[in-house]
Amino acid sequence: MALPVFSSPLLRRFDRWAGPVLAVAALGLLLLETRRPLRRRTLPRPRRWLRNSLIAAPSLPAMRLTLLPAMVGLAQAWAPRQPLLARLPEPLRLAAEVLLLDYLGYTWHRLLHAPLLWRLHRVHHSDLDMDLTTAWRFHFGEMLASIPWRAGVPAVLGVRPATVLGFEAVFEACTAFHHSNWQLPFAVEHQLVRVLVTPRAHGIHHSQVQRETDSNFGVVLTLWDRLHRTLRLNVPQQALTIGVPAYPTAADLPARRLLALPLEPLRPWARPDGLVPGRPELAGPLHELVP
Ligand SMILES: [Zn+2]
Repeated sequence: MALPVFSSPLLRRFDRWAGPVLAVAALGLLLLETRRPLRRRTLPRPRRWLRNSLIAAPSLPAMRLTLLPAMVGLAQAWAPRQPLLARLPEPLRLAAEVLLLDYLGYTWHRLLHAPLLWRLHRVHHSDLDMDLTTAWRFHFGEMLASIPWRAGVPAVLGVRPATVLGFEAVFEACTAFHHSNWQLPFAVEHQLVRVLVTPRAHGIHHSQVQRETDSNFGVVLTLWDRLHRTLRLNVPQQALTIGVPAYPTAADLPARRLLALPLEPLRPWARPDGLVPGRPELAGPLHELVP
């Protein structure tokens, strides 16, 4: 018999609604990034897609079978005991919950760039191009490691299970969107990035220049990067080299090595020949998006 939390009505509703909606959104993004690519590809797509699918094959089930049930189970068990958010009137409570969840996403992403968790997160960053499939290229260990922060902390703070799971669907959709290689009209993205993390903004986070990687950690809102002074938008997309300098070619990281990469020692932020990717500080305000 299945444990109740794995087949709770909320999770069944997530499977029935969020699953198909996310699949249609992914298909739409795939068409858009094919028709209007943002950055030049450095590798043929089929090879990268195969590799990224092999990484996603254990991590997507790990998310559905561990992270999502933990989000629901812990929120059901702990959230009703926390009076803090429950005192707020309904629209305010929901807004506070959503802001809190997105802020936890931002802080979790910053923790992923600290040495211990970078062992896992570098699997994602070592992709040498970015597109929709990069949004699925997460080591399954990263999914498991995120449970205390992304499922435990919201529950302890009193975020309701339906909000946690509903926000998770938004979180996944935004992750697919900002990793995509879709070239939005610049005027549109220029306005959008005032509120949301966009493909140009997140592309800068995947740069091989370290101070650019240490920018733009937000998942849904750019608000947290603005508040923490980690927003950097003035890097032209065609100037970006995507990836981690220690692993400069696709041949360095076949899928089986990527799966074992968390066990390998950390490498300095430099190419194997010792060169550290860099560029002079760019002109223009940091917070002003450029094409
Ligand atoms: Zn990152």
